[in-house]
Amino acid sequence: MREAVAARVSIDSSLCQGHGRCYSVVPELFGFDGEGYGVVLESAISADRVGLAHAAAIECPERAVVVDEAQSDDTNA
Ligand code: SF4
Repeated sequence: MREAVAARVSIDSSLCQGHGRCYSVVPELFGFDGEGYGVVLESAISADRVGLAHAAAIECPERAVVVDEAQSDDTNA
């Protein structure tokens, strides 16, 4: 059985400056592209990973990491 989705994680590419804080602090959820800009490895996260996502958001100096907890479940609607 799949775990429920508790939040959606994204990076606002218009804000990301490639500082690398997100993927340095939370490599479980973030990686980087060929130019060092952050990419989301897992966008639909379960409740046990929401804290990690917020940690990355706090670390990002550009406020580019978005954690949307309103976007939970009901994705098939
Ligand atoms: S920490 Fe922020 S600015 Fe840096 S790579 Fe990650 S999303 Fe981009």
